[in-house]
Amino acid sequence: MRLPKLPRPERYDLSLHVDPAKPRFHGELAVALELGADTRALELHAVELEVDASEVEDASGVVKVARVRANPERETVSFVLERPLVPGKAELRVRYSGPLRTDLRGLYLARSGKRRYAATQLEAADARRFFPCFDEPEFKARFRLRVTTPARNRAVSNGALQRSERRGARVTHHFAETPPLSTYLVALVVGELEASRPVRCGSTPIRVWCVPGKKKLAGFALRCAVESLRRLEAYFGLPYPYGKLDLIAVPDFEFGAMENAGAVTFRETLLLVDEKTVSLAEKKRVAEVIAHELAHMWYGDLVTMAWWDDLWLNEAFATWMAFKVVDDWKPEWDMWLDFESHRAPAFALDALENTHPIYVAVESPSEATENFDVITYEKGASVVRMLESWLGPAVFRAGVRRYVRRHREANARAADLWRALEESAKRPITAVVEPWLERPGFPLVAARRVDRGGQAFLVAEQERFFANPKVDAGARLETRPIPLVVRVRRGRGKDPLVRALAEQSSTEIPLGPSGEVRWAYLNAGEASFVRALHDAPLLRALGQEFARLAPVERTGLLGHQWAGARAGTARLADWLELVARLGAEREPEVLGAASGGLSWLVDQLLPPLGERGAAVFRAWLAGVFAPEFAALGWQAERDESEKRRQQRAVLLGLLGGLAEQREALEGAAARIGPYLKSRAKLEANLAGPLVELAARGGDADLFDAYLRAMRGAATPQERTRFELALGSFRAAPLVERALALALTDEIPTQDVVPLLVRMLGNPAARERTWEFVRERWKDLSGRVSPGLAGRLVAALPALQKPLYKRQVAAFFAAHPLPTAARALRQALERFDLDAELRERALPELRAYLHNLV
Ligand SMILES: [Zn+2]
Repeated sequence: MRLPKLPRPERYDLSLHVDPAKPRFHGELAVALELGADTRALELHAVELEVDASEVEDASGVVKVARVRANPERETVSFVLERPLVPGKAELRVRYSGPLRTDLRGLYLARSGKRRYAATQLEAADARRFFPCFDEPEFKARFRLRVTTPARNRAVSNGALQRSERRGARVTHHFAETPPLSTYLVALVVGELEASRPVRCGSTPIRVWCVPGKKKLAGFALRCAVESLRRLEAYFGLPYPYGKLDLIAVPDFEFGAMENAGAVTFRETLLLVDEKTVSLAEKKRVAEVIAHELAHMWYGDLVTMAWWDDLWLNEAFATWMAFKVVDDWKPEWDMWLDFESHRAPAFALDALENTHPIYVAVESPSEATENFDVITYEKGASVVRMLESWLGPAVFRAGVRRYVRRHREANARAADLWRALEESAKRPITAVVEPWLERPGFPLVAARRVDRGGQAFLVAEQERFFANPKVDAGARLETRPIPLVVRVRRGRGKDPLVRALAEQSSTEIPLGPSGEVRWAYLNAGEASFVRALHDAPLLRALGQEFARLAPVERTGLLGHQWAGARAGTARLADWLELVARLGAEREPEVLGAASGGLSWLVDQLLPPLGERGAAVFRAWLAGVFAPEFAALGWQAERDESEKRRQQRAVLLGLLGGLAEQREALEGAAARIGPYLKSRAKLEANLAGPLVELAARGGDADLFDAYLRAMRGAATPQERTRFELALGSFRAAPLVERALALALTDEIPTQDVVPLLVRMLGNPAARERTWEFVRERWKDLSGRVSPGLAGRLVAALPALQKPLYKRQVAAFFAAHPLPTAARALRQALERFDLDAELRERALPELRAYLHNLV
């Protein structure tokens, strides 16, 4: 499928006519090429572009194009020439046009109220939907853009705006030529935009762009950008490479954000913030996403993966770097604690038989798109972090600097990074890191203590972890080098950390004199990407001194025990015992770590448990969390910490959403009216759970009130909050209304899949939602964009019943989603895993509840 190495582009000169009100755009393109021998045709990527005229000029003059041939299966067009070209340099000139797309890729239409915008999203392989090009990351070239558009429109692109020429009702914006870039990093946004005043980081001017009226929400993003850029320049030891930095909020956008060089595009919710009403979680997410995109300016844009199989080189590193940068800026936010919840889905996915290695061979663009998942991002970032912790931060940074300097403005592969790191570490690392990248899955490490000759040891035994207990022992046999960090609890003083590289199936780690060692925790700081299961005596000791573990380890331990219970390698009761200890927990992230497992129990085990059993379970849950919520109350103290505020919000979600505690639900019902009248009436972190809980019991009047609140929302976060909560109403006619809205422009394309996912999570809506998806697929499929299709498919196991599993398999066999092929296999596997677990865990839960009363 790939293009030959030659000819290769050196420079694209692109003159565009874009009017977002018109269905098509037009372009004139000149590509400067370096040729190989015997060039009789030029093949460039192009999809749904119409070529009106073309010619080539080489050293001996103009050559006519005899015919233009489309090769749809290769997503290319060939310009077949009247005579072979003279080797050396040449220029291809093309006049073409294309549709302003509606599927959030290529150059597409984004609406905001009555206003229309044209915006690009070109990763992975959609530059070919914007202009004919050599659309592979290795073909780096310089770009010079000019855009002619109605005079009211502004335009933002990678290069700085050099001048704008007005001619009648139109204006032409001229942008400076870029440094060498891969095609997927080209950007253009056209429409009525306003810009913040520039702030500077060193000599770099930074601006936020948005639809008119929202400029006042730019302050936080600008601060994040300055703080991130400064730290990134210091880390890489290289100045920001792209002159100016524009951050653009696009009103309809598929991904979270996109690292176009010098012109980063975002969902509005991830850039525009009102600091008075934003929740801590939303603020952290904005900071993390901005830092992630800016890390890409060096790692991804300046040095680019040679091909999509090394996508993780970009994404794993940027994900890791973002947490590092924000943690350094705001240590009180404990970003690495948040990282645990970010990577929890990666652990879950990677425990399936249908997972994939971080490094994956990629043939086609849709395979590349499939790899934008939690394995590439969060597992990848975990491996980077493990490597940094193992080599030490200074050595790691020296290697990264060496790598970036060596490959700047060019492309690289994983082996290039290992070489640079090995040079700075002065020891081999490839053998340690490669199994983590090239093999799927991750280890289960079982820990027990042995005492010998007055010394205590931790015995760590590894095998591959599978969520499915029926996977046979042979498939589990696997060893890989695991850099382990063990926390040792001594009788007095600080708890020392012991490091070891576990390379064999069983490793003995010395802990110290038997008399002094009380217990050990296998994965201190959750430094390694493993599931750690401690044997009964160790687990009992850990439970008794639960608060002695670092917050990130408490989160980790909850995750390990739940994963073990799911996989049949640990007792459900042990996990429930840990949950019971959370009544006293002050860390919102640790509290939140229980909610995944608890949601599963509520959703899948309470119905078969029966009404009485469910009531006992809910009363138990309320008993754990209610005292602390009651102590906190709905009102925040004036000088209360951000964490304490978030703790209140997490507790409300647990109590109202899972325990269905009457006080919490009635409290929400009583407060939604005043909140709809005035946002200032409520502690900002409570808005999310309040809007969600009130919707559950809400009637048609409340549904209408949410619609009005959505339309008139003052911030993007508020808009999304009310919009998605439309999917949380339970009354049947309101479920219908929410579904019908998904087919209208009232819900932007970017939010259609998130709304359907919300509705699949709603027990009163999920079966009807699935029926709707099947019945209305013809209308709906155009609103399920390729990059989000996998998320819709991943939510379907919520349907639970085997009947639905068969329907899901049959439906997507008949209506294939190429970018969700792997997600479909994973979803089908999850249907089976859940069915097995329901059967196995029901008696365990029943016995646990029986012992309570
Ligand atoms: Zn990224």
